[in-house]
Order: sequence, then C-alpha cells, then structure tokens
Amino acid sequence: MKRTIVWFRKDLRLHDNPALWEAANEGIVIPVFIWSEEDRLAYAASEASAWWLYHSLKQLETDLSQNGVQLIIKQGPEFDAIVDVMEQVGAESIYFNERYEPTERDRQMRIVGQLSSIGMDVRTFHGNLLFSPELLNKQGEPYKVFTSFWKRGLQEVVDRPLPIPELQGVENDISSVAIDALGLPTDLGTLQKYWQPGERAGTEQWAFFADDGMLHYKKERDLIAKGTSSRLSPYLAAGNSSARTIWHAAKRINEETRDVTAHQSIEAFLKQLMWREFAYHQLIHFPTMTDQPLRKQFNDFPWIGTPEQYNLWKEGKTGYPLVDAGMRELRETGMMHNRVRMVAASFLVKHLLIPWQEGYAWFQHALVDFDTANNATGWQWVTGCGIDAAPYFRIFNPYLQSEKFDPNGSYIKQWVPELANLPAKYIHKPFEAPEDILQEAGIQLGETYPYPIVDHATARKRALHAYDTIKGRSEENRL
Ligand SMILES: Cc1cc2nc3c(=O)[nH]c(=O)nc-3n(C[C@H](O)[C@H](O)[C@H](O)COP(=O)(O)OP(=O)(O)OC[C@H]3O[C@@H](n4cnc5c(N)ncnc54)[C@H](O)[C@@H]3O)c2cc1C
Repeated sequence: MKRTIVWFRKDLRLHDNPALWEAANEGIVIPVFIWSEEDRLAYAASEASAWWLYHSLKQLETDLSQNGVQLIIKQGPEFDAIVDVMEQVGAESIYFNERYEPTERDRQMRIVGQLSSIGMDVRTFHGNLLFSPELLNKQGEPYKVFTSFWKRGLQEVVDRPLPIPELQGVENDISSVAIDALGLPTDLGTLQKYWQPGERAGTEQWAFFADDGMLHYKKERDLIAKGTSSRLSPYLAAGNSSARTIWHAAKRINEETRDVTAHQSIEAFLKQLMWREFAYHQLIHFPTMTDQPLRKQFNDFPWIGTPEQYNLWKEGKTGYPLVDAGMRELRETGMMHNRVRMVAASFLVKHLLIPWQEGYAWFQHALVDFDTANNATGWQWVTGCGIDAAPYFRIFNPYLQSEKFDPNGSYIKQWVPELANLPAKYIHKPFEAPEDILQEAGIQLGETYPYPIVDHATARKRALHAYDTIKGRSEENRL
C-alpha cells in the first residue's frame, strides 16, 4: 500500500486538510512535524504564537493517536528529517499544504527541488485560504482595491470542505522527539486563562459564534466591550480552523435565514474572511511588504518618536485610556479587538511618529493570532503606505473613537483598573476631570495614571506636517 508523508505546518487540523485527505485516500499516512532552525528563529520573534503552536501540536498528537496514527516530530533541517522518516517507513511520496509567506515560499521551493531530485513524489495543495491566491484583474495586475477584489472573489469557486479522513498508520514505531523537547513555551503569562488552542476548540468557537454573534455582527462588531467578533483569528492563523469550512457554513446559515439583519451581518463577516484573502494576495504579489512600505516615499518619512515612548505604548501607559486599554488587553490575553488595533496602531505611527515596523514587531511578539499577511496589511493600511490604505491625513482621534465605541468606558475600566472608579463622563479624558472627582476615584494624575504623553492637537498637526515633507515626492516604484 502507498505510504505518504504528510508534512504539517500551519494546518494543524484533521478536517479540511487537502494534503492529509489525499494521502489518506491513497493509503498509509505518516504525519510529520519538523522543527528546524528557521522555525526556531521565526517563532522566537513571536512568543504568543509559539505558545499556541505548542498546545496545537499537543492536540494534534492526541487527535491523530485516537485515530491510530503517530505524529512524528523531528528536529533539524527539513530535508534530512524527511529523508530519515522516508527511510524508516519506506515512503515514496510527501504531500503538504502550501504556505504563502515569502520566506516559507522560498523554503518550500528549495525542499521540493531537493526531494524531487532524489526521486520522491512531492505534491502540494491549497488548504489555508478560500482559493489559490493568484487572482489578477483584467489588466493582468494584482488587485489593489478591496471592493473590486471582493466582487471578483465572490465569483471564485471555494472548494467544499473535506471531512476528517479515515487514517491508517504504519505498524512500527518511528523515532520521534517529544513536543516538550522543542523548547516551546508551555505556559506564557496569563494566556492559558483566555484560550484553548487546537482544532477542537476552534470548532467550538466557530459553533458558538455562528449560533449568535455572527447574526448581530454588523451592528455589534465595533462595540468593543461586548466583543461580538468571532475570535477565530488565532485558530485560522495556526490552521486549527479552516477558512473554507467557516465560509461554507456561514453561507449555509445565510441561505437558511430570512432575517435581514442576519443576512447583512453574515455578509459583513464573510467580507472579513475575504480581507484575509486579500491580505495573502498582497503578500504574494508584494513580498517585501512585511518590512518595506508599498508607497516608496514613506521610506523618507521623518520618524522622530523615542524608544521611551515606544516602551510606554507597549506597556499601555500613554495616558490615552483607549490605547492603554488595548495595549494591556494585548499583554494579558494575546488579543486586541480590531477597532482598538486600528486606534493603537495609528497612535504609534501618527501621534508618536514611530515607524510602523516597530509596531508590527510588537504585535508579532504578543499576538496569539499573529499572521504575516494580516499584520503587514493592517500596519500598512493604518500608516497609509499600503495599497487600498487609509489616507495618511486621516488621523484617528483616540478620544472620539473611545466615546463612540466604548461609550460607558466598560472596556477601559476592565483593562485600566486604576480608572475603574472614574465616572463615564471623564473616562475618555481623565485630565479633564475636576480634582475632587479624581480624588474620589482614587486617581492622582501623573502618579497613578499618566497625563497624555503627547497632546492630541499638537500631535495631529505634527503628523500632518511630517506627511507634507514626503507628499510631493515621486511615487516612482510605487506598487
Ligand atoms: C495593525 C493591525 C494588525 C493586525 N494584525 C493581525 C494579525 O497579525 N493577525 C490577524 O489575524 N489579524 C490581524 N489584524 C486584523 C484584525 O484585527 C484581526 O483579524 C481581528 O481583530 C481578529 O478578531 P476576530 O477573529 O474576532 O475577527 P472577526 O471580525 O470575527 O473576523 C473574522 C476573521 O476575518 C479575518 N479578518 C478580520 N479582519 C481582518 C483584517 N482587517 N485583515 C485581514 N483579515 C481579517 C480574521 O482571520 C478573522 O479571524 C490586524 C489589524 C490591524 C489594524
């Protein structure tokens, strides 16, 4: 019977896994996860994702073993690891789902070449996106505007998700290292209080959201305190959940309901999944976007923020309650609501004039849902240096955002407890509260909670001035 190695990477699940499905239908499956030096370095910059990976692997190992199959863990260069397994079990083929990050694409191309040259049958599949990320517009160029991409994406066929296949493993034990030997963090701060990584939890999270939150998503997704978004991003980032499964399930619910609000909400949710798709398309076409602005004149942007300000931002001590709440939520839970991400990111880049790449790096470090394509797209969008980006001169006002999306200050009070006793009227701008109210709330500005580290009006003016210095520059090489 045919023996196929299935190389798991960011597709840590059994359902809707095309490489696994194909291998299982053809014969015996040997699931392998490889921890190379490149992985170790990549995950060193991404602590929360490394924690997520550890627990996802544990779950995958359990799920595979309940299906009678051993997950083989190998350390070292991929080629050596694969050849070692191949020799132990007599496999002639290796299947895997593609990754799309620039470094991963290079790596995969190298390995496919090496394995093919020794006569192995190598097959790759698309399993992590709705469709293959190579859509071009009528001019044969990458899409640069989301609305056109969305319309075109709706015409693409999204393959039906695959069920969990019946698995048959090899009889003999294959040498494998323990997941615990990989040096991944098993406990990290308070993350375990908030998350259960892995395929099962991802499926439960989807069911929970589909049942209620999705049906009010359009109206409620921006209500920060309520947190009505799906919270599926870390599961999608690690491949515990499948975008295609969620897409088809959401469409089915949409067809079954007659409620207009539900229809609008489901469409708004599907649009977010399409943003993820759009982000991956961008990354494929503009692989340097992880650290270089797509609008080249931003290379000359006069960034003047200081390391001290960067640290205050990371610690959630800027004196802007909404920004601080978001940054502390991130530290505590590895997550931040999308609306607050936009405000906190904009604050770093425009109020503090700190390069977006620094913000990217901190999010990469702290987010459980860190995803190269989404993070790069998010930061370039906020900065105004990406494609289909918010114009630079549109500067988020953190106070207005706070009043609009956290009117009672419940979110702020949850994450900035030193402001918990401040009346809602002053929660967005504690420095406007009269002294007696501050005293009653137990707040001493400058001691228990900081004054704003920059004045909003001054920072806004300064940001616009900085932008003026690059505005007229040639956009040669742009996109
Ligand atoms: C500066 C910045 C950095 C970001 N970094 C990341 C990141 O590293 N990883 C990440 O997954 N998302 C990132 N996002 C996008 C977005 O904030 C998160 O996807 C969202 O908050 C996750 O919460 P959710 O699963 O409840 O989303 P929902 O609102 O329920 O959306 C469903 C899914 O759609 C996708 N999605 C939603 N919004 C976006 C978006 N704007 N761009 C691309 N895909 C989207 C996600 O996979 C998400 O799980 C970033 C946004 C900004 C502004």
